Amino acid sequence: MLTQAPRGTRDVLPTESYRWQYLEERMRKAAALAGFREVRTPVFEHTELFLRGVGDTTDIVQKEMYTFQDKGERSITLKPEGTAGAARCLIESGLFAEALPCKMYYLNAPIFRYENPQSGRLREHHQFGLECFGAKEATADAELILLAFHLLEDLGIKNLSVEINSIGCPNCRPAYHKALKDYLADRFDGLCDTCRGRFDRNPLRALDCKEKRCQELTKDAPSMLDLLCDECCDHFARLQECLATAGIPYRINSRIVRGLDYYTKTVFELVTETKDGSLTVCGGGRYDNLVEQIGGQALPAVGFGMGLERVLMLLDSEGIVIPEPPRYDIFLTYMGENRQKAFALVESLRREGIRADMDHCGRSLKAQFKFANKTGARLTGVIGDDEARDGTVKIRNMENGEESTVRVQDAAEYIRRA
Ligand code: ATP
Ligand code: MG
Repeated sequence: MLTQAPRGTRDVLPTESYRWQYLEERMRKAAALAGFREVRTPVFEHTELFLRGVGDTTDIVQKEMYTFQDKGERSITLKPEGTAGAARCLIESGLFAEALPCKMYYLNAPIFRYENPQSGRLREHHQFGLECFGAKEATADAELILLAFHLLEDLGIKNLSVEINSIGCPNCRPAYHKALKDYLADRFDGLCDTCRGRFDRNPLRALDCKEKRCQELTKDAPSMLDLLCDECCDHFARLQECLATAGIPYRINSRIVRGLDYYTKTVFELVTETKDGSLTVCGGGRYDNLVEQIGGQALPAVGFGMGLERVLMLLDSEGIVIPEPPRYDIFLTYMGENRQKAFALVESLRREGIRADMDHCGRSLKAQFKFANKTGARLTGVIGDDEARDGTVKIRNMENGEESTVRVQDAAEYIRRA
């Protein structure tokens, strides 16, 4: 127990963190290309923010939040998604009053959901998310979809499909709710407990339900797309125009409703097929009412969240290898009494910006060599008695076996060129 991480959490080991850093770097670059700047918001927020923002008929709020009372008896929740916190920050900071749109991204944000842990489903996962506040045009929706698509495609992920839908707005959705309810009412007894419970207030959720029987029952449910108002219809058409202009493949999937209540108009997912079935790597959409709903002014917005663990899973399943950067430029070995000399050289090399290290465990010279080899260092150095006496170091190139004796003060220059 003591030495086991909580269920549904994962350590990122020092031996694999380079994979995360590689992704993070790609994500930062992609976001910066389109003018998004990083925002960092707290890991926890007032519970009320998610009740109002995410919506109390969603799976996230009903089943998945890590909520607790703090010592001041406030109800606190660990972030179950990134958008509500970003919107709260926008309002509180007054950023909404500056030139719009306000484009922000968060990277590697820990997200907590009490889910049933399984492949690709953790209780703590990490998201790269983009939010664009104050943009009502469909070009903003398209820009995000394209950014996510190209990021994944550039990473080498194939068979990506972009699925889009529109779930309308408060003008047209009530009519759809009614049509869907009429359809579901005849099948009410077959729905799962959760869907029955939210049938009145949020029948849309049934389309998103993970239960097999709900998926079966809703197969022929009416489509929101048939009932969109003119404005939503127009927005959806313009989004498709942008995607077509950009030349990326997309598919309309009228079953995508997304797991959060704040969405309006556009919703989308980026899905790939793996050997274990389809996997959603990225989900997002437009949320024109969220900012107002949590106490700000009316401000249209659009965003997405992408799970880093799922992107890494996909890279693995497609056999895409992230190059591991070398840990050391040089690993210095030494004969026992020359430890101080080795130490001084390692320090001076580091000051010169060279990745250098030495043994700190009291290994024999032979064991140091073995260890140096294991680190994958391109060069190894030896300070034996002769070198110590002459103020030199013998440097061996592990790739071609060449050896040179170099004066200590020239070592940095030599290593840089070797
Ligand atoms: P799903 O339908 O798979 O439950 P979701 O709709 O709950 O996904 P979002 O809230 O849209 O997911 O989160 C955005 C992205 O975060 C997802 O596309 C996925 O990549 C990732 N993600 C969501 N939940 C988890 C989880 N429990 N473990 C790992 N990654 C997750
Ligand atoms: Mg979910």
